[in-house]
Amino acid sequence: MSIPPRKFRRVCVYCGSSNQVAERWLECARVMGRALAGRGIDVVFGGGHVGLMGAVADAALAAGAQVYGVIPEKLFELELGHRGVTKLEVVATMHQRKQRMAELADAFVALPGGWGTLEEIFEVTTWTQLGYHEKPVGILNAHGFYDPLLAFLSNAADEAFIRPAYRDLLQHASDAELLLDSLASCSLPSFEELSRAAR
Ligand code: AMP
Repeated sequence: MSIPPRKFRRVCVYCGSSNQVAERWLECARVMGRALAGRGIDVVFGGGHVGLMGAVADAALAAGAQVYGVIPEKLFELELGHRGVTKLEVVATMHQRKQRMAELADAFVALPGGWGTLEEIFEVTTWTQLGYHEKPVGILNAHGFYDPLLAFLSNAADEAFIRPAYRDLLQHASDAELLLDSLASCSLPSFEELSRAAR
């Protein structure tokens, strides 16, 4: 039986904070910002004005979305906070930030990024795996950026480090619209599957 597509109010976007990346990566972030706004979906992000973070926030705001940033004090004090967003929450720690971002959003996407992006997307995927939330998670594999990571994950599943029920937890697509469609329609493991897999 097919489930009706999920409706998202807010999607959390994790993405690179580097300003040194090529223009095509910033453009990916702008395309995602506009795609979310075009669907009437608001954006939750790490609250920075730098790199792809600033690009996704600016594009989503310009296209009419509300944008919510959550930034730890330490980064805010370094003047890395985006002052133009709908709401910028300043929290004490990185852990509080990630918790708050996860609470605010109905789904999660990672655009190309580095350590921070990978850490954030893997954490929320682990939370899905353990049944702490039932929110879909996906990565934007723009220009094949995540091909090596997808190959790594496929190998981890082949080697039984990722259980069959969780193999497809992380959605992926090369295009923002396709990724959002797949987050809306993907099936997530049920509680029964989760408890079976844990045995
Ligand atoms: P990275 O992929 O290492 O550039 O880290 C980006 C992710 O980590 C973002 O999704 C943010 O949540 C967080 N982050 C890293 N650096 C910053 C920064 N300078 N300002 C705000 N958030 C950051």
